Amino acid sequence: MMTLNDVQQMAVRAAVHALVMALPQPKPGGRVKIFTSADKQIEEGGRKVANIAIHETGFCKLPSGVEISMLPVWDREYDDAARLPPAKADRWLKAGGYRLPTPEEYDELEEEGLHIEPLTLPTPEMLARFGFVPRSQAALDWQSREMMTREWCDIHKAAVRVLLEEAAYTGHQPVANYGKHWSKKKSGERGIYGWPTRRPAYYGLQGGRRVIQDFSQRHEPESEVFVDYATTFHAVKLSGAKSTTKPEKPAGSKPTTPSPAGSLARAVSAALRDLNVLSPDRGRASDGTWPSEAHRVQSPNSDHNRGNAVDLTHDPVHADCHILSELAITDPRAEEVIWNGRIWSVLHPEWRAYEGTNPHDHHMHVSVRPELRDDASCWPWAPPGLAEIITPEGQRTALEVLGYAGDLEKATRAFQKASGLTVDGDFGSKTMRAMLDAFGASPKA
Ligand SMILES: [Zn+2]
Repeated sequence: MMTLNDVQQMAVRAAVHALVMALPQPKPGGRVKIFTSADKQIEEGGRKVANIAIHETGFCKLPSGVEISMLPVWDREYDDAARLPPAKADRWLKAGGYRLPTPEEYDELEEEGLHIEPLTLPTPEMLARFGFVPRSQAALDWQSREMMTREWCDIHKAAVRVLLEEAAYTGHQPVANYGKHWSKKKSGERGIYGWPTRRPAYYGLQGGRRVIQDFSQRHEPESEVFVDYATTFHAVKLSGAKSTTKPEKPAGSKPTTPSPAGSLARAVSAALRDLNVLSPDRGRASDGTWPSEAHRVQSPNSDHNRGNAVDLTHDPVHADCHILSELAITDPRAEEVIWNGRIWSVLHPEWRAYEGTNPHDHHMHVSVRPELRDDASCWPWAPPGLAEIITPEGQRTALEVLGYAGDLEKATRAFQKASGLTVDGDFGSKTMRAMLDAFGASPKA
């Protein structure tokens, strides 16, 4: 026979479930990819342990250079993040050529990673509606117990997937706040570091430095079984450990040769190229790619430091950033766009007030998604026809049509000479502009 309490519990659980289901659902064939194949299983003493696997391509480089798993280490049996007691996590990771992250690496992950906030906690209003006194010990006790059930875990998992889809997760960003983070404590003993979140009430500031709430007192010792719906860990590759498989190509990107680390993203060069072809006379006073040393020191986490961002000058006559910013956010490569006191990002895909000190009213800032940095295809402001002549093959064909056959560089020189351009054989933005004009001026089929 059910007690009233059981009924209340079921009702709250159902209400939370309804909350999750009310979120936009993942589209069929959506981009969210939870790793289930090509995993490396952890072995101990030559035997595969449980169903714990690490997706060998599921790593991302933090600015410090360490490679960290993008989603936490996976439990294939439950198709969810693995929940292991710290001792096992430590031992198994080492056996697999990985280690737990340090608190400093979690700080980096917190800065760099994707943040998702699954809404799977009953709200105070909900608790009150079902007869609990919100924030009472009874409510908190029930909530803690409930959150360790399989059912609650499944609700949580559903919410995570919905939010990953909403954030256009491609499997190439580390997810910063998935579960509680396990880490080595500074003293060297094992422990759970806690639950990282950007909400200051949880995260706090200690001595000017962000810290992760320490849950170790409440959670040790963990049992060796499924204990908690979100106790999990990320893995860091031991230096020298090599991935056995190549990184996957992001879906939809053109096949390209990866640019070396530390180079300017091709997507960034393409943004400048397209704008220069569109408006050869545009002002360039506030253009920027690589930061100055001063800027680098002042903004150590800027995407400019990795060659993944571009600043485009606002020129109301030739390159109006009011228009360019609206175009930029339609490009799948855009991760963050800042213009005129407002910011748009993949994580919050709507214009919001920008709180930074520089209002960005002389230039528009565009960060590109690291996984799409090698995509040099045309940006939405490219003039019609430009897409046809950004590859050597397209350039050769176009030159041939205009009567300049043969070797690309020679033909380019001949075309440049005939067009009154600097003759350097380099198919740059001025040559592209002249070529589009040549096609526009001649009545061609
Ligand atoms: Zn910028």
